[in-house]
Amino acid sequence: MSNIVAIVGRPNVGKSTLYNRLTESRKAIVDDMSGVTRDRHYGVAEWIGRNFTVIDTGGYVANSEDVFEAAIREQVTIAIEEATVIVFVVDVTTGITDLDDEIANLLRRSKKPVFVVVNKVDNTSLNADATIFYSLGLGEIYSVSSMTGSGTGELLDAVVKTFDDDVVEENTRPKYAIVGRPNVGKSSIINALIGQDRNIVTPIAGTTRDSIHIHYNQYGHDFMLIDTAGLRKKTKVKENIEFYSVMRTIKALEEADVIILMIDAQEGIESQDINIFHLAEKNKKGIMVVVNKWDLIEKNNKTVKVFEEAIREKIAPFTDVPIVFTSVTEKQRVLKVLDVAADVYKNRAKKISTSKLNDVMLPLIEHYPPPALKGKFVKIKYVTQINASSPMFAFFCNLPQYIKEPYRRYIENKLRENFDFSGVPIQIFFRQK
Ligand code: GDP
Ligand code: GDP
Repeated sequence: MSNIVAIVGRPNVGKSTLYNRLTESRKAIVDDMSGVTRDRHYGVAEWIGRNFTVIDTGGYVANSEDVFEAAIREQVTIAIEEATVIVFVVDVTTGITDLDDEIANLLRRSKKPVFVVVNKVDNTSLNADATIFYSLGLGEIYSVSSMTGSGTGELLDAVVKTFDDDVVEENTRPKYAIVGRPNVGKSSIINALIGQDRNIVTPIAGTTRDSIHIHYNQYGHDFMLIDTAGLRKKTKVKENIEFYSVMRTIKALEEADVIILMIDAQEGIESQDINIFHLAEKNKKGIMVVVNKWDLIEKNNKTVKVFEEAIREKIAPFTDVPIVFTSVTEKQRVLKVLDVAADVYKNRAKKISTSKLNDVMLPLIEHYPPPALKGKFVKIKYVTQINASSPMFAFFCNLPQYIKEPYRRYIENKLRENFDFSGVPIQIFFRQK
């Protein structure tokens, strides 16, 4: 179930500082990937074992005087509709401004949980000044210093309490989400697949009320398609189009089992696509790439290879991902997309027996054992797949702390070579035995 925390507020109150604070701990521990784009305004955060997505709305509004007030008002409205929780940041050093009041007016009408965060409370002498923000009429206030991190723990404790516990969904059909930048062909492929039946839109219990779910049951496929393209919000402010589409994409992505990332062959894969790719990877979702508008590309016998290599280079290190070249307008390989998505779904759900795993992996480990460290030898004794929604393996050994990243990669590569995990992130743990 998706849990999205949107940070709203006027410029300079400290939204992006708070955003960095909330996403950093996890980044430091988990994010050992190289080449992650830095200018992201959304990311995964973790608190007491709960994962959620944080989005810094400030990243989507230009700071020019004449547009920003209208833009911010609209942004808050979108956040109220789309997010699970709103974090409203205000600044203790300025007190309540007119724009703070306006935002508070919008938020008071929201049915979503709203947390008033009084930022820049860098020392206790400012606590008294913070109490003025009770007059916003939004209930409890949380005094924090995003700069030092003080107070953010209490805030997060309260925020995660509002999350739904994972709703057991009645519907066990695979869920696919087609995501990608505007104009790549998402609506076109959905129309090609479902034709006239576009109005078979099924609201499913336990899913986000307002996302569009299409039940597809043809040609041997039976799945739910989460549509991010079908709903297009009319917005007066250009910057908010991207904000809105990012919100929808994150939601679809958290809910789906397989992410179908569509790109335009003429434009190739761009930083926004790579951000979505990494978010899907971090969320341990199945992933495939569709290169659409293939009809517009002049081709020779190397073109596919050149495109594939260019894409894999950008999505590295997780490159074991299927890539399908389509032309929706020429009806080329549209059904192939569904076949591959189904394969990725199966790979993600795949369970390999412990005996099979050990038969395959132990000889490989014996042939190329972990390098000795400080004269000590690491012995891996056995391996087992842990029961989880995406592939996770535990390797039991005497000195797990001595196993470094290159060896983990070797193990991952061997798992991928021997068992098909195409399109699926794999987690590998080394445990004491
Ligand atoms: P945004 O426009 O709301 O995203 O605000 P920023 O995160 O860019 O912060 C605006 C300014 O406030 C920057 O100069 C920050 O360094 C500063 N700032 C942010 N958080 C704190 C804080 O907790 N204490 C103090 N003293 N300054 C802060
Ligand atoms: P969306 O914004 O991702 O939903 O993109 P649309 O489905 O609205 O498509 C944007 C434009 O690209 C439309 O004019 C489509 O007709 C066109 N388009 C979609 N798929 C293809 C394709 O495979 N080849 C070509 N040449 N045009 C396409």
